[in-house]
Amino acid sequence: MKTVLKAENLRAFYVLQVAGRKKVIQAVNGVNLDIQEDQVYGIAGESGCGKTTLLKVLFAKADPPLQIFEGAVYYRENDSLLNAIELDSEQMRKLRWTYISYIPQGSMSVFNPVKKIKSTFLDFLQSHVQNRVKKELLALAEEHLRKLGLYPRLLDAYPHQLSGGMRQRVSIALATLLSPRVILADEPTTALDVVAQRAVLQLLQEIQKQLKNTIVLVTHDMGIHANIATHMVIMYAGKIVEEASTEEMFTNPFHPYTRYLINSLPRIGDKRVRESAPGNPPSLVDPPPGCAFHPRCPEATELCSSKQPDFVEVSAGHKVACWLYGGANHGTFT
Ligand code: SF4
Repeated sequence: MKTVLKAENLRAFYVLQVAGRKKVIQAVNGVNLDIQEDQVYGIAGESGCGKTTLLKVLFAKADPPLQIFEGAVYYRENDSLLNAIELDSEQMRKLRWTYISYIPQGSMSVFNPVKKIKSTFLDFLQSHVQNRVKKELLALAEEHLRKLGLYPRLLDAYPHQLSGGMRQRVSIALATLLSPRVILADEPTTALDVVAQRAVLQLLQEIQKQLKNTIVLVTHDMGIHANIATHMVIMYAGKIVEEASTEEMFTNPFHPYTRYLINSLPRIGDKRVRESAPGNPPSLVDPPPGCAFHPRCPEATELCSSKQPDFVEVSAGHKVACWLYGGANHGTFT
């Protein structure tokens, strides 16, 4: 398998001026990822841990107050990797939607409320597809919707005439019109009922199967990861704290935070109170020293509050940042 998206030591912070004082929110703080082709790659963690910011940076879109301070984001071009952060706006324009696309949280922001869906599709196609007349572009949009099991007549609707779930599916269709190699999906099922959630997830799976591409799926919902992700990482306080195949993550979680995330999932027929992590996620302005999870961790030791554990491979393909499992690349595993 080939790498299609790679992050190297990414640091991206929000720099704000609040009451005349500089405030720095360390949303993405030293993230490394190596994402392979043909899979659904899940990024999990509670709200406020930096998942959405990470997706924006992977899309090489850091608008102020977000700034990328360090690191690289690589996209594959033939046999080489391009650092997206160093590309100019024209190079990036060519790669966006053809190589990498982004499905934002909340489909309403994608569409102009006073224009028919058709005009959003046409504007999009006209800016990316050369030498085709309007009729041909519309035919392309209709064919794409049909392939995804959606009715082409949706193009004649205004956004408010569609349900939230249908609008989300149409926004996914728009983001995948040009068959991108990588799709970044940010909480694509937020605010949808269970039936609409299912339809959206089925659509994403269908697209992944058709295109054999990679979907990077951000959601706090571990049940969704269990259902559709093949590989996943857990994010906490701007860092990746665990990585494994989804099956391994759910059967053999190492990090105490991951165990809480899994244990808090409801299970049919199990009436016991689900146990979630005590306390709240830390402030990203002034994260705790050492392991950022230590104020909430029942297994924390003195070392945890003073020294940050490295991200180490404990078993094949399963990595964790926790002193319980060595925690230092040069350390020992007991
Ligand atoms: Fe808990 Fe320490 Fe592991 Fe952090 S490093 S998760 S505080 S045991």
